[in-house]
Amino acid sequence: MIDPSRTSVPVIAIDGPGGSGKGTVSTAVARYFGWHYLDSGAIYRVLGYLAHVKQVSEDDVSGLVALTHNLDIVFAEEGIFLDGQNAEGLIRTEEAADRASRISPIPEVRRSLLQWQRNQARLPGLVSDGRDMGSVVFPDALCKFFITANSQKRAERRYKQLREKGFDVRIEQLLREIAERDERDAMRKASPLKPAEDATVIDTTEMNVDDVISTVLEEIERFL
Ligand code: C5P
Repeated sequence: MIDPSRTSVPVIAIDGPGGSGKGTVSTAVARYFGWHYLDSGAIYRVLGYLAHVKQVSEDDVSGLVALTHNLDIVFAEEGIFLDGQNAEGLIRTEEAADRASRISPIPEVRRSLLQWQRNQARLPGLVSDGRDMGSVVFPDALCKFFITANSQKRAERRYKQLREKGFDVRIEQLLREIAERDERDAMRKASPLKPAEDATVIDTTEMNVDDVISTVLEEIERFL
């Protein structure tokens, strides 16, 4: 059980590359504990989407930062709401992921989103999912995970997810896009994709999702 005398909000940071299963695991963990959930990738996706519709270019740093100032985003059971509308259909495409990974390397954008993300830590606790949750946004997280899988497996998972949502995608193309985004996310100077020093790394290539969830829950129980 969580120590009732604890003053700070407990945070669980779950990072990793796209298609590793971290989103599924994070939502399951948040539901299990009845905690809030922060899908930080969705914020970068929303920003990429807004930049596209408002015609703010990837080079217009002050324009992009201005977009971060008035974000009206709510995470609900049905997904992410932008300005009161369910935005899942707009941001879960490969195009949206690509836009997100093109603006996410900009340090000013990341800095501007930092406090917003930290403000999501509310009682009884927060499960946060992304690339830099344990390394930058919540360095004092109660426990940290880095969930990964090889790129073939991740492309297969993405393929299944997108097909189920009715998107017409090709696995070869997904594999190429995933490799490109991994490269961009890992090579950038600001908050590159890499495990926090104190993160538990879980390679899920040969694991099913239920086993990953129980492994993560068992590990968390050690900290509570
Ligand atoms: O996790 P998801 O695939 O939705 O993230 C989309 C993109 O957003 C990533 O490829 C990455 O460039 C960016 N991102 C990030 N930092 C985070 C979460 C996502 O840079 N904490």
